[in-house]
Amino acid sequence: SVIPDYLTEALGDVVSDTSGEPAGYIPELAAADPERLGAAFATVQGEVYGAGDIDTEFTIQSISKPFAYALALADRGFDPVLAKVGVEPSGEAFNQISLEGDTGRPLNPMINAGAITTHTLVGSDDLKPAERVERVIDGLSAFAGRPLRTDEAVCVSEMEHAHRNLAIAHMLRGHDILTEDPRTVVDGYTRQCSVRVTARDLAMMAATLANRGVNPLSGERVVPEPVVRQVLSVMFTCGMYDAAGDWATQVGIPAKSGVAGGLIGALPGQIGIATFSPRLDRHGNSVRGVSLFERFSSDMGLHLMGTP
Ligand code: GLN
Repeated sequence: SVIPDYLTEALGDVVSDTSGEPAGYIPELAAADPERLGAAFATVQGEVYGAGDIDTEFTIQSISKPFAYALALADRGFDPVLAKVGVEPSGEAFNQISLEGDTGRPLNPMINAGAITTHTLVGSDDLKPAERVERVIDGLSAFAGRPLRTDEAVCVSEMEHAHRNLAIAHMLRGHDILTEDPRTVVDGYTRQCSVRVTARDLAMMAATLANRGVNPLSGERVVPEPVVRQVLSVMFTCGMYDAAGDWATQVGIPAKSGVAGGLIGALPGQIGIATFSPRLDRHGNSVRGVSLFERFSSDMGLHLMGTP
């Protein structure tokens, strides 16, 4: 196939770009090798093509958010989730302490306020916090098609510096959007973010969204089709935080970034794409990842609003 050669060439073109910095606010992430670089495509038929570091594990971070949202919608139904988390783009940074004026509802599930709330909506109401984390990790694993595990060092490192997320969780508790102990909730959310994945896993997780919720390799239906439509819509409008508008116009693919340097895109009915490169721009999105997606989109005419 010509795809691995194409990917190798694309990586070669961005490798000289050393701008940006790995996330600094989680000390364990700042220690990551910033030169890592990989890209993978996974088709809805289950083929994976890749180049570079596609089997290196790193933490999923915010890329867990759309998948946890999918699990919450599948487990609870739409109305209970929408009652607690909106679907409006915030135009703000991922960790902004921003809640809807009178209700206290987080604007969307892709920013931390919404994702912390969404974490508590996975599984049934009677789950204990540890059981809920288990349900989240099992669900992420089903999207990936292999068992995933957490990175304890990254999790502990983030919890030691989780003051912003704790502040957000206390605000949410004050508005009764959260009904549990804020620290316990942030601990569970941080565990969710510390799940280890490779670019290959992320491409397969994105391909499961592209494949209407069925994992192309295992054949397992992970979430129902209407849930996938909801998740991809929210990724399209909110997945890149305060760069979501630039992304929607220039790349035009539902996407999600994470502060460990991962980035995914899902093209309905076609492919899941993942890139990995730890240096981030000022929005917290991978610098080389954004360049790669811009190139993939224009080379292959992937923009969803483009005319085929
Ligand atoms: N765990 C990180 C946080 O909550 C995830 C942020 C991200 O990947 N953008 O701050």
